[in-house]
Amino acid sequence: MGKATGFMEFERQVREDVSPAERIQNYKEFHKHLSEEEQRRQGARCMDCGVPFCQSGLLMKGMASGCPLNNLIPEWNDMVFKGRLDYALERLLKTNSFPEFTSRVCPSPCEAACTCGLNGDPVTIRDNEYAIIENGYREGLMQPKPPKVRTGKNIAVIGSGPSGLAAADQLNKRGHLVTVFERNDRVGGLLMYGIPNMKLDKEVVKRRVRLMEAEGVTFRTGVDVGRDISAEEILQQFDSVILACGAANPRDIAVEGRDAKGIHFAVDFLKATTKSLLDSNLEDGKYISAKGKKVLVIGGGDTGNDCVGTAIRHGAVSVTQLEMMPKPPVCRAEDNSWPEWPKILKTDYGQQEAIHVFGSDPRMYQTTVKEFKKDKKGHVKSVVVVQLEGKKDETGRMVMQPVAGSEKELKADLVLIAAGFLGAQKYVADAFGVTLNTRTNVDTAPGAYATNVKKVFTAGDMHRGQSLVVWAIKEGRGVAKEVDQSLMGYTNLT
Ligand SMILES: Cc1cc2nc3c(=O)[nH]c(=O)nc-3n(C[C@H](O)[C@H](O)[C@H](O)COP(=O)(O)OP(=O)(O)OC[C@H]3O[C@@H](n4cnc5c(N)ncnc54)[C@H](O)[C@@H]3O)c2cc1C
Ligand code: SF4
Repeated sequence: MGKATGFMEFERQVREDVSPAERIQNYKEFHKHLSEEEQRRQGARCMDCGVPFCQSGLLMKGMASGCPLNNLIPEWNDMVFKGRLDYALERLLKTNSFPEFTSRVCPSPCEAACTCGLNGDPVTIRDNEYAIIENGYREGLMQPKPPKVRTGKNIAVIGSGPSGLAAADQLNKRGHLVTVFERNDRVGGLLMYGIPNMKLDKEVVKRRVRLMEAEGVTFRTGVDVGRDISAEEILQQFDSVILACGAANPRDIAVEGRDAKGIHFAVDFLKATTKSLLDSNLEDGKYISAKGKKVLVIGGGDTGNDCVGTAIRHGAVSVTQLEMMPKPPVCRAEDNSWPEWPKILKTDYGQQEAIHVFGSDPRMYQTTVKEFKKDKKGHVKSVVVVQLEGKKDETGRMVMQPVAGSEKELKADLVLIAAGFLGAQKYVADAFGVTLNTRTNVDTAPGAYATNVKKVFTAGDMHRGQSLVVWAIKEGRGVAKEVDQSLMGYTNLT
């Protein structure tokens, strides 16, 4: 249980970051991790409380409270405290297929629900997770473990994001032969071509893919299923098919002037930067450059923040980020009590960097775009923005409405739209004949993964809508269980 009095003796200490001034010079990961001894003290802070919300993964008011994977957090905190990172790794891998991803990019709902956080500082659960998995790789504990017996069943996984990878990993471990199809040139989905390198070094993704290959998973990149190979062929060749294609339809901003040049979707901007970085260290020039540009990012969320950080690294001369919602409070509001997910102000790495470079927070709250203005060559030159205020509609729901006369014009010659995603791409859904629900996600019974088409299953963002890596892994493990059950008549997957 960690140390009985640890939470009273030791202060929370998280990993330190390289300063914004230094880290914007490159695209490297920027966290400096604690020594093993300090990490042990952090493990000691876990009090093994009677009801560990940290591992509950409950949905409260639609948001996760605690780890959606139900990671056995108090158990591995204790092993971190005792210096048994090898035992901790065994416990961690029981529930989490890829801790090296979550310990870098997860917003850690576990920590938001930690009992120590009720009236103090939560345990550093995510950093403890990082220490466990990276020690595992460093000490040679993460070796390929191919299954001893093969079942003779063939499974196709379409899409190599975290949900597809988790499903492939589980089903391969069970003895099925798994082929993962990916239309991009590299494996990883948004782990590779969405989340920037400074947040998740792409060598970390490749390291896991190499391990999975050594365990027997086949990866076929550059194959767009439904276009390069038909759904019929896939259905003929495989016993089961898992659609894990993500929610790749970006939400657009349909206002006057949208056809101007210089307006791009965030993922196109981020993907091109990562691809060029990996292909040529950005020397091939095949990316949308923000160098010398006045950048406007539409969307105040994590994707928008990634655009801010990337544009600053390119050498943007200014960066503004628009957010429709009001500025959140710095502390929990009365109707947002522990252990709910705290809806409070977060200043992420990109915004911290903007504050360092430009002297102020890039975010403009309660603001949206009314019009894009073009120059003579049809390139965006400015954006008319308008303020928003919350008003109740006829159903009593709060909606953000424009404030008449509040328009103002902002100069911008590169606009990045980071306004969210709208669900499954139609061509893949149509190719397999799977039905979509009203949110344009692939439809299944609640809590299940089977689609309306025999032997076709779905998981990840394509199924639950735009979400998080931790949920994608959860879905991948869930669909693997259901597929295994359908093929074998029983399952021992967890
Ligand atoms: C910019 C950005 C930053 C993010 N940052 C974070 C973060 O910090 N933390 C976090 O937890 N979450 C983050 N997310 C969300 C997270 O990345 C996603 O929720 C997660 O990747 C979804 O996993 P997935 O496997 O369902 O789909 P994806 O990761 O989207 O992968 C789907 C894959 O399927 C492939 N594909 C699609 N159709 C086909 C086809 N027909 N044939 C072959 N291949 C196909 C796609 O090319 C893609 O590689 C971020 C998202 C974005 C966009
Ligand atoms: S996966 Fe996320 S929520 Fe779960 S223990 Fe790790 S950091 Fe916490």
